[in-house]
Amino acid sequence: MKAAVFEEFKGNIQINNVPYPTPKSHGVVIKIKATGMCLSDWHAWQGHDSDIILPHVPGHELAGEIVEIGKDIKNFKIGDRVTVPFVSGCGSCYQCNSGNHQVCDNQSQPGFTHWGSFAEYMALNHADLNLVKLPDEITYETACILGCRFITSFRAVVEQGGLKGGEFVAVHGCGGVGLSAIMIANALGAQVIAVDINDKTLKLAKELGAIETINSKNSKDIIGEIKELTKGGAHVSLDALGHQETCFNSISNLRKRGKHIQVGLMAGAHKHPQIPMDKVIADELEILGSHGMQAYKYHEILEMIKTGKLTPDKLLEKTISLEESIALLPEMNKFKSSGVTVINSF
Ligand SMILES: [Zn+2]
Ligand SMILES: [Zn+2]
Repeated sequence: MKAAVFEEFKGNIQINNVPYPTPKSHGVVIKIKATGMCLSDWHAWQGHDSDIILPHVPGHELAGEIVEIGKDIKNFKIGDRVTVPFVSGCGSCYQCNSGNHQVCDNQSQPGFTHWGSFAEYMALNHADLNLVKLPDEITYETACILGCRFITSFRAVVEQGGLKGGEFVAVHGCGGVGLSAIMIANALGAQVIAVDINDKTLKLAKELGAIETINSKNSKDIIGEIKELTKGGAHVSLDALGHQETCFNSISNLRKRGKHIQVGLMAGAHKHPQIPMDKVIADELEILGSHGMQAYKYHEILEMIKTGKLTPDKLLEKTISLEESIALLPEMNKFKSSGVTVINSF
């Protein structure tokens, strides 16, 4: 089968003929129909993830059709249309037993702990637990957009943030994560203030329901501006970029007892940002993370898509072939695009 493979970090990415995967007794093989490109794939290729063993096939935002099942699979059959969250749970650790597969102690992640979806086929373990059956009306292209940025934003806004209609939410950084959060917060009836440095992205943020947008490049006092727009501070605020500055601002623009949710990944120099801990104590703020979402929670999103409350297909910027993706992957950190690029021909 065909797959996009790299044999060294920061090295050439090639389309190679590689062995077809065999499913474990608790696993399946999926014929990949669509897979999203994400900055995490670029980090994988850079060598920023210690789980990766070379040679490697990236890709973790996938949807496809089951073509083979292990002997212990009970809930799925060959021919099922499926997708999967980027974290697969093991089903037997403390976290999985408490229903929190997104932080499983023995988690696997396609495209990191094993070969991913930039390929014709991919194996997935503990499939009964981790697969999500897709309704017919949801396309593979839309479904694959959900698996990483969208579910992380959904959990951030709905579960961790507990955002309610009428409340103010600030979203710092309007890439795929931020735009997803804006769409979800808007669907809940919240009032979104979107912050970014790109006017084109902010225009899209407005189209997705932000009531106000701020270009932080042109603002002398971003925290003050947000506090004024939100009549004293946001109830919930997200760092959707993963940067020391956006993290600091997101915590600082909260009202008393507000919640900051860290959604953007903190890598490299941004790993340990400064936190205004004096304000956290004085104002009884909460600082929370969001790391994907459990497969069994997907039905909430799928229902909202079916009724038109959520339209993740609006985040789809373009579709490309697997061949085209290998030139694009090393350039992903230079993208100034707002939407998601999806590979849908293999
Ligand atoms: Zn991703
Ligand atoms: Zn587990």
